[in-house]
Amino acid sequence: MSDEIDQQSGVREENLDRRKVLGLMAGAAIGVPLIAATDALAASPAPASKGKEKDASPAPAASGGATIAPGEYTLPPLPYPKNALDGYLSAEILEIHHDIHHAGYVRGLNKAIADLAAAREKGDFSNVKALERSLAFNGSGHVLHSLYWNSMSPKGGGEPKGALKKAIESSFGSVDAFRKHFAAATKAAEASAWGVLAYEPLGKRLVVIAAEDHQNMSVQGAVPLLCCDVWEHAYYLRYKSNRASYVDGFFDVINWDYASERFAKI
Ligand code: FE
Repeated sequence: MSDEIDQQSGVREENLDRRKVLGLMAGAAIGVPLIAATDALAASPAPASKGKEKDASPAPAASGGATIAPGEYTLPPLPYPKNALDGYLSAEILEIHHDIHHAGYVRGLNKAIADLAAAREKGDFSNVKALERSLAFNGSGHVLHSLYWNSMSPKGGGEPKGALKKAIESSFGSVDAFRKHFAAATKAAEASAWGVLAYEPLGKRLVVIAAEDHQNMSVQGAVPLLCCDVWEHAYYLRYKSNRASYVDGFFDVINWDYASERFAKI
């Protein structure tokens, strides 16, 4: 599978051709917002002492403001048992996807943060391009996977309600038009990709984003509300190359309540 190559480290810099590298660098600016993306993404407080994790030390207090101590990113637990979506995705798929793939992005993100801190400390930015690429790739991967688990629910499916429904109707014409748009964009996204429903604050509208890798083909500043992972690791064990069937099934488990909560907070 084409998307397996990076999962142990969460990084695959060596395999990028020039076109992709340029795209990734551009994508570093357009990836989903790390902070606003999901509550589940909040980095945990830094461990009291782990020796090697010098990057996890608290930041100095901002002048006149509250102290914000950035900690390590951690893998959030699945919001349901691994077999909870069995009619759609098997426990084996969820276990591999969450425990191996998502965990790899968390490790990669923490490493990128630590390596950038070390570069600042040394005043050596000779590798900064690759480190920023790793930050964008792994950071966006962590954001989207954290959102993805909550974008599905064993009690999901049905129709959006309330303010989110109105926003979908206003932005796409109807819920059905959104569904067709989202499904088509997600199925057509190139290679390893995501379908994302996001709120774009400048135009105050919802948009469908078909993000490539995690960080490319997105809209800077747009806040994702829900997403569907179409990297092969998300579905291949059950659906093989039939991405379309997997995407169509996503609507049977889609967690509109969670998307509504996020939309309300925005
Ligand atoms: Fe994934």
